[in-house]
Amino acid sequence: MQVQDSDGGEAVMSGYRARPLIEGFPGKSSTHGAFGWSSLWLLDDGERRVLVDTGQPAYIPLIHDGLARLGLTADDVTDVLLTHMHWDHVSNFTMFGSATVWVGEQELAWAAEQPAGTKFIPDLHVQELLRRSEGVERMSAGQEILPGIHAVASAGHTPHHLAFFTERAEQTMLFAGDAVKNIHELATLRADSSMDDAQSTRTIDRLRSLLADTSGVLVPGHDTGLVLADGEVHRVRPQRADIGYFADGITGEQDRSID
Ligand SMILES: [Zn+2]
Repeated sequence: MQVQDSDGGEAVMSGYRARPLIEGFPGKSSTHGAFGWSSLWLLDDGERRVLVDTGQPAYIPLIHDGLARLGLTADDVTDVLLTHMHWDHVSNFTMFGSATVWVGEQELAWAAEQPAGTKFIPDLHVQELLRRSEGVERMSAGQEILPGIHAVASAGHTPHHLAFFTERAEQTMLFAGDAVKNIHELATLRADSSMDDAQSTRTIDRLRSLLADTSGVLVPGHDTGLVLADGEVHRVRPQRADIGYFADGITGEQDRSID
């Protein structure tokens, strides 16, 4: 697309700018449940501001901070895309009051069939997505949801998981959600926490091939952006989580950060 720049000359618009609001982190705890430290990215083409996944409840201040760094508020988000119906990706869709929320039709129907107490499924969020007649759109694999943004079938982690792919950006972007949660899964083609291990391996293999063909960036559900170079997987940025620990009654907060 050609647009006039401020000097009256022609500048080339590259489409969406893709920026992380919160970088995912690939930690887990067997004693205290999933960390749920998922990836939240924003695509902005000057017209639309498209949020990919909405994170978990503890992310709310981080979402506000991440938007503020870009000069934005939650009301500036025009579209929210949900990769799948897990609590750490879905929980904050209600805070984007001006946005259209895009949810996989089959994924939502599957989640609605699961009994209360099914792991990782936030019952009330599922019910609210079903209930809303305005502001929620159903989407399917293979669909071009928004200009240049395509939904990609990526089953395994959940039965109807969707990834999102766009070439309308500075670099080709592939938002894998939890189809590829971290660097280890992309490197080994083996998924932790999958409902179908063989299906997950096929999905990761397919998404990795797409990444290789396009020389782009893959954003996993719980890690920084990943690239392929000479057949190896690399993070685009170093990974770090700041963690404080109150070990006893005397010392105060101790730094137990991970990097
Ligand atoms: Zn998940």
